[in-house]
Amino acid sequence: MREATVVVLGADGYLGWPMTMHLSRLGHRVVAVDNLVRRRWDQEGGTYSLIPIATMDERIRTWCEVTGKAIAWHHADLCDYEALDAIIAAYRPDAVVHFAEQRSAPFSMIDRDHAIRTQANNVLGTLNLMFALHERVPDCHLIKLGTMGEYGCPNIDIEEGWITIEHNGRTDRVLYPKMPHSFYHLSKVHDSHNIHFGTRIWGMRATDLNQGVVYGADTEDTSRHPLLRTRFDFDSIWGTALNRFCVQAATGHDITVYGKGGQTRGYLEIRDTMACITLALENPATRGEFRVFNQFTEQFTLNELAETVKRARAASGMKTRISHVPNPRTELEEHYYNAKHTGLLELGLQPHLLADTLIESMIGVVEKLKGRVDPVLLQRPSVNWTTGGNEIWRQYSQAGGTAVLIPAAVAGATVAATATVAAGRNGDLVGRRNGGSPPVVPAERSVARVNGGNETKAANGSAVADGVHSDTVDVTKLPAFRETADGNGHRANGGPPHESEGTTVLGSPTARKVHGRKQMAFGALVAVAALTAAAITLHNLYFGPASTFAGAIEPARQIDLNFTQAGVLASVAVHPGDHVKAGQVLATEDQSVAQHQLDAANATLTADQVNLTFLQNPSLNGAQRQQLGLEVQKAQADLAAAQQGVADASSVAAASIAAAQGAVRSAQAVLTADKQQFASACPGGVTPPSDPSVTGAVSLFLNCQHLSDTIQRDSGAVAAAQSELTREQALTAQSIHSAEQAVSASTLSVQVAQNDLSLQTSAATPANIALAQATVAKDRAAVTSAQNAVSELVVTAPADGTVTQVNGSVGDLVGDAGVRAFAGPQSSTAQSQPDFSILPQSPQATTPAPGSGFQSLISLEDASGWQVVAQVPESAVSHLHPGQSATINVVALGGASFHATLRWVVPVPVQGSSSSATMYQAVYALASVPTGVLPGMSASVAAPN
Ligand code: NAD
Repeated sequence: MREATVVVLGADGYLGWPMTMHLSRLGHRVVAVDNLVRRRWDQEGGTYSLIPIATMDERIRTWCEVTGKAIAWHHADLCDYEALDAIIAAYRPDAVVHFAEQRSAPFSMIDRDHAIRTQANNVLGTLNLMFALHERVPDCHLIKLGTMGEYGCPNIDIEEGWITIEHNGRTDRVLYPKMPHSFYHLSKVHDSHNIHFGTRIWGMRATDLNQGVVYGADTEDTSRHPLLRTRFDFDSIWGTALNRFCVQAATGHDITVYGKGGQTRGYLEIRDTMACITLALENPATRGEFRVFNQFTEQFTLNELAETVKRARAASGMKTRISHVPNPRTELEEHYYNAKHTGLLELGLQPHLLADTLIESMIGVVEKLKGRVDPVLLQRPSVNWTTGGNEIWRQYSQAGGTAVLIPAAVAGATVAATATVAAGRNGDLVGRRNGGSPPVVPAERSVARVNGGNETKAANGSAVADGVHSDTVDVTKLPAFRETADGNGHRANGGPPHESEGTTVLGSPTARKVHGRKQMAFGALVAVAALTAAAITLHNLYFGPASTFAGAIEPARQIDLNFTQAGVLASVAVHPGDHVKAGQVLATEDQSVAQHQLDAANATLTADQVNLTFLQNPSLNGAQRQQLGLEVQKAQADLAAAQQGVADASSVAAASIAAAQGAVRSAQAVLTADKQQFASACPGGVTPPSDPSVTGAVSLFLNCQHLSDTIQRDSGAVAAAQSELTREQALTAQSIHSAEQAVSASTLSVQVAQNDLSLQTSAATPANIALAQATVAKDRAAVTSAQNAVSELVVTAPADGTVTQVNGSVGDLVGDAGVRAFAGPQSSTAQSQPDFSILPQSPQATTPAPGSGFQSLISLEDASGWQVVAQVPESAVSHLHPGQSATINVVALGGASFHATLRWVVPVPVQGSSSSATMYQAVYALASVPTGVLPGMSASVAAPN
């Protein structure tokens, strides 16, 4: 097949990711799209992939490194029409492979909310896709993943999508009737009908793949590198039957069969999914065709599957037990099942049939990871078809609602901190993010440190055991391990703290907040002075005579933080009293709009870059021109076929209408003849004889009655022939209309193809190349600015410190301007010696003037620098010089002494001092952070005379 442009929707999923690589390896130009919602659904329900999976950024990069092939990647939601339409318009795909749906039956049966989310996501997303394809690329081949579950378990053979029905002597070919198993399967039925409708009204090309249950962990491409592996679900919500049975066998658990185990379904191996979709792609449906394949290779009962796994284990000397558990689903447990599946075999599919060796190799994969298996998720169904989500669902979803963030870092680097984030059920928008530095979720790799362990929770909500807080923890081994809220494993703003960038020192003092604990009680200071006499004596011994001043310890700096953009607060990750690390995410704003703008900017850039590449590269240009020329020819051929279709439809219409009119005419002729006969034979109508003994009177009466009945039947026949004529006229009008629509669509395709060709033919002038370069440069600037806009929606800690205030909760309108830091004495009595810094959160941040109404969302005390503010009498001031050494003694820390340096003396007298002498404040910077120090602790300062 010629190289095609294929958009894979749902490219981050179990099947979507291997398919993306598969098509790229075959030489197609692949565009991967996903909104990463599946990672968030995992987070919501406390489930996770047994095989650790890398982020999409990392997968795409690794694929490019391993194969030298590029894949375009877009973070977009099918339910966001503008985003989807922009992608379809930019790439104008030849085919779309659509995996992007919520695909778990139990998930859809949890409650009303999950049923609605499933159907809204699936049905509306698919409708958006249909409209985007119809409007942008009407010739595109839609390959849609449906499921064998759409059919249910009818007591007759299941045909391949269509069935011919004979009813009251007439026949028609109709979609096979569906009796699905769940609200999820119903969403697929709705999709099938919508797509069928699209083929009828717009002439779409569509292949609906009613896929069986897929098993298997690896394809040729996923095995190339650990970062290319695909997900492997084993829990009762997402795990498919055979995958779950293999994990049960590998971990020594009973294989749990729901109910009697006679439930029969179609199955196929993951490599066959790749092959089937490739066959569908290479042999597209024709315009207006709704083609259905039943995509499975073998059918088994649950009991047969369980026995196969047991037998495969026994061959390796392992004993496995099969147990039957109450069936949480409402379904037939013993039934007839015979589903046709010849379409793909006819196209050349060579199935991988289920063999014991395959099961053993799957179990081999699972065994290496069995330490990651949560036995509760594996063994206990959490959703019942009649009562919905049970106590297991509630327990895990509550833990899931409070997502554990373990920002993982690259090879051996430090994981800076952990924090809990309150993520709502519909947390989909929280922390949604794209681009930026690639996060890595290293498979099977140790992370050097996990700090902030107090807040770490396991997936089941229980605190992680103490050992987890030790210095070496393999987070991939924890059941609690999962991606960050953005589904990408990012530290949402993982760059270095901004403190060192763009610090501005303003020159004028302002009124500061009063921090009560920093005001010193003179009585306490006297006591401190007495208690520290011994230390001062020691100081004098070594450094000469000293003066002593009483003071108190305080952090050198308070940092007030807020967002630079006004917006809605989406998450707050800290509480007052929390210790935070530099770079840690403290709060996020709703990023949906900014993210959408970033996606759109990326899509525009990609499209303009492709255009520029073609303009700059004459050989590509030639190839492209040739290709476009072929497309014009193909579109013209399609148009001719469509025009022929109109002619055919018209002549068929004329013939069938003529036949129907003939039928009306002959029915009317019969009626007329019978009426005439009645008029001549029965001038008096149908009257019973007054005297039945009169010869002939009875037979006349009976004859007239018979003629009258015949006339009634004739009238019915005329009415039936007339209504058949009307139906035929409507049907033929409809088929002519459809054929004409196909002509309009083909005419449009010809125009588009001719337009593309003429653009390519005339475009490669120096002026056009320069214009295209300028457009790409402009697009790049737009992407950078959109990236900055996204990063501004995150507040991170600029330095290590302790949270003192949080002034907002999720849903509040927030956002002022950047970061503000106070340094130096913070007492209300200190009215001069300013050291007031505005630290922009990002280069774009505006720096508010002091007192401009800046509202702090989160305030931190910077833990990196501590100082002592001491009261010194006027007589001592002339002996004090910035930079002088001093010794600080802290009684509350067992009389420990610390080295300090004088920063400055505030040149304004202390107001309200009880001393008879005028007192000033001297500020000493501590050389190190005393262990156990708390703000406000009393200290004495021994300074040289
Ligand atoms: P999956 O859950 O692993 O992958 C689906 C992907 O689609 C996820 O990455 C998810 O984030 C994405 N997605 C969902 N809604 C989206 C939206 N609105 N916008 C963008 N992305 C969205 O599922 P899978 O097992 O890979 O299945 C893929 C498809 O195949 C599904 O449609 C499923 O119904 C169908 N199918 C799967 C199986 C099976 O055994 N896995 C069987 C029959 C049919």
